[in-house]
Amino acid sequence: ITKGNLFHTSGHLPYYADTMFPPMLVDEETDAEGNVTKAGQEYYLKAMNCPMHNLIFRARGRSYRELPLRFFEMGHDYRYEKSGVVHGLTRMRGFTQDDSHTYCTREQAPAEIKKQIEFFISILQAFGLNDFYLELSTRATDGAHKDKFIGSDEDWETATRVLEDVCTSTGLDLVPDPGGAAFYGPKVSVQARDAIGRTWQMSTIQYDFNQPERFDLEYTAADGTHQRPIMLHSAKLGSVERFIGVLTEHYAGAFPAWLAPVQVRLVPVAEAFDEYVTEIAQRLRERGVRVETDLSDDRFGKKIRNASKEKVPFTLIAGGDDVDAGAVSFRFRDGSQVNQVPVDEAIEHVTRVIAERVNDPAGEKPVRD
Ligand code: ZN
Repeated sequence: ITKGNLFHTSGHLPYYADTMFPPMLVDEETDAEGNVTKAGQEYYLKAMNCPMHNLIFRARGRSYRELPLRFFEMGHDYRYEKSGVVHGLTRMRGFTQDDSHTYCTREQAPAEIKKQIEFFISILQAFGLNDFYLELSTRATDGAHKDKFIGSDEDWETATRVLEDVCTSTGLDLVPDPGGAAFYGPKVSVQARDAIGRTWQMSTIQYDFNQPERFDLEYTAADGTHQRPIMLHSAKLGSVERFIGVLTEHYAGAFPAWLAPVQVRLVPVAEAFDEYVTEIAQRLRERGVRVETDLSDDRFGKKIRNASKEKVPFTLIAGGDDVDAGAVSFRFRDGSQVNQVPVDEAIEHVTRVIAERVNDPAGEKPVRD
């Protein structure tokens, strides 16, 4: 929570007031008749982290040698979304933003933006998203929303041109989004298509010439003069909760093994093999694998159905033949099976697929000669 005046300095109040929770009034004192004898203080739940990062930047003098200066925070933010708009993990009233603010010179901005967009793509690809385009959100230059944007025409044009040039240099498709910018500057977002072709806004980067002005941010240049930095706001995953929601949709719940909450489920064919699977589970656990054993009273067929319904990547089955051979059998989410893999080999296979972050289900199956 933060005093309201900070958000007035940033311009989030009044420009962003609709999307912030109403203020809390604290420390107000009244007499017996209810007259205010001591004015209170209004606090707001923070809806973004930039104003606080600006305070850190401003806490001491800054030199050009420190730039670009990057602050990063897993910041908890709260936004008043109308109840009809709140939706699962993808639109929430409280969320965690992997938020960063980069302070740099105007000259450094293009290279810094390019580097960050390339970083975004590498992160999204690591999670198995591979189909992207960029969207460039600019201010509205006419119509009812024109006044929503602050800053001079010249600043907007410069910032828009910088972003456009950088986007073009990445070679990705660029789609214009006039009127979609934040009130303080234009924005580039990475739009990803999921497995069934839906588009999601993922990473974003915003060019901001406005908040440095409002917060009177300065650095000392090489020639000793005081200069205003540019500020870049960026979020890689967007919000962590929303990102998990998008991934869940993308994989329809069947996460690659390295991302799955439960990576291995061990199922004995009968109670006689409980101890055998428990030992294998222990060995996997020691290797850092997230593993469960199903030693319930359910029938074997039901246990297999449960594991498949929960989309556990590796279901390992052990029966009499497996125990005799010192082996275990793999059952996969597509119903296919690889029988009697020696236990050592099975453990190596599972830990390798996880460590290599294999995203393709075909790569989860052990190859046997
Ligand atoms: Zn920000």
